[in-house]
Amino acid sequence: MQTLKGNGVCNGIACGKIFFINKSSVNIERKPANDIPKELNRLENAVTKGIEELEELRKKTEKSADADTAGIFDTHILMLSDDDFTNDIKSYITENKVCAEYAVSEISKKYVQLFRNMDNAYLRERSRDVADISERLINILSDTEYNSLTSGNVIIAADDLSPSETAGFDRGHVMGFILKGGSATSHTSILAKTMNIPAIINIGDALTPDYDGKTAYIDGSDGKIYIEPDTTTTEMLENKRIHEKMRLEELNKLKGKPNITKNSKEIMLFANITTSADVDRIIDNDARGIGLLRSEFLYMDRKTLPSENELFEMYKSIAEKMDCKPVIIRTLDIGADKKTDALDLPYEENPALGWRAIRICLERTDIFETQLRAIYRASAYGNIYIMLPMIISVDEVVRAKEIIKKVCSDLKAENIPFKEIPVGIMIETPAAAIISDKLAKHVDFFSVGTNDLTQYTLAADRQNPHLSKLYTAHHTAILRLIKLAADNIHKEGKWIGICGEAAADNELLKLFIAIGIDEFSVSSGYLLPVKELILNTDLTGYILPNELNI
Ligand code: PEP
Ligand code: MG
Repeated sequence: MQTLKGNGVCNGIACGKIFFINKSSVNIERKPANDIPKELNRLENAVTKGIEELEELRKKTEKSADADTAGIFDTHILMLSDDDFTNDIKSYITENKVCAEYAVSEISKKYVQLFRNMDNAYLRERSRDVADISERLINILSDTEYNSLTSGNVIIAADDLSPSETAGFDRGHVMGFILKGGSATSHTSILAKTMNIPAIINIGDALTPDYDGKTAYIDGSDGKIYIEPDTTTTEMLENKRIHEKMRLEELNKLKGKPNITKNSKEIMLFANITTSADVDRIIDNDARGIGLLRSEFLYMDRKTLPSENELFEMYKSIAEKMDCKPVIIRTLDIGADKKTDALDLPYEENPALGWRAIRICLERTDIFETQLRAIYRASAYGNIYIMLPMIISVDEVVRAKEIIKKVCSDLKAENIPFKEIPVGIMIETPAAAIISDKLAKHVDFFSVGTNDLTQYTLAADRQNPHLSKLYTAHHTAILRLIKLAADNIHKEGKWIGICGEAAADNELLKLFIAIGIDEFSVSSGYLLPVKELILNTDLTGYILPNELNI
């Protein structure tokens, strides 16, 4: 047995075979080839198998997703059938007398570089496709079960994962994530929590592809990984699993109870979701609404923007499933680590401080209007709210509301039914908290995004594991900003929630309730633990720390 240690970001014990992805990013060993015709033959067989796999994937995706997504596989098939690419690999094998895997990885690097240096943005993007098909070839050549993701339980291992890679995993088979790097408030970690999948990050160089294919248990509560555990350890982990199950049964008894503290303050306890696939789970965990639909996930991992109808169908199905409960749809918050190939966004040195979220929507009004039309059309089927991300000024709110007004008058002229929708904003920037008195005159509600508010206030990148000690929502500056905003917002008779990860922080919850936070929105797995905390909170005689009074 071997053990590794990282930081757990989503509790729970999971067991499965380790599946190391992004293998082509690790250096492929340069093995000499004595039998060149054999290597060439291996390559040809791998190309044929790769094309077959892609055709199969294309068929599957066509049935389960849209034609655009399935079209990605067409591009891959075309590239893999391209003689220039395969002939280059063959020449490399022959000239350098090396194994096929090594030749693929070297030629792939050359092509990736070639595409990356192109002026045309579309062609630049093809570098990723080259990397994808090369990885497929290497996996086939090294006899890796590429499709093991669809058979049996797997623990995904990687250097790091992008949010879109994470969102794409089959939840029926992926039991957990273990990452070399990562940070607790990256969207990959947040997704693990939303999907309620045990995850461990920051394992460091100890996590190597050598573990690929080995059976492992991972424990998200203490960040430990047990590779090929002995019988005693397996028993200990299975016992822990039983205890977790018993704890869950206790928590399940809270379902249906009103979210009221011991001193009679009623709290709204809502859930954070990324897609309609999350809705059943949050309803089952007693969510009284959706406090944050991260709508940008429907724009990621695809080459074209979603159509108005596609968005409408998704929002409608969520609104209907939630019955009359509030569904807060945050408008497109693309940018920083949430990237999409569907938008030709320019390269930026500091993307978190760059052209993202509402800044894009106010310039690309075509994209914003499409999303708003879909939201308003879906409003006829439930209780939808709109929330604007990354606000820093009253002017942005006024401009966004003008666009909303135009969308409403267009729909009216087209006789399309819709309801009045409350419009709120996120407090994710120090600016929004500081001018919350002004903003409160223009919107109906607020939600604090502590993930970004913390990074922008403390100048500490939420993605950077080296800064994890500096990056904390417990900092007095963050708590002061939240209190300032709550006071200002309540003066205008509006409500304020928290939808960042700090909403589920058991050390902060009492303080937040004392500050006057009206709503908490958390990932599905935290709904019942936070509910328990709310029910046990008693503010009688509680005095706010003096340092929060400014
Ligand atoms: C936040 O910033 O706290 C937030 C909820 O938004 P996101 O994590 O998607 O940036
Ligand atoms: Mg944010």
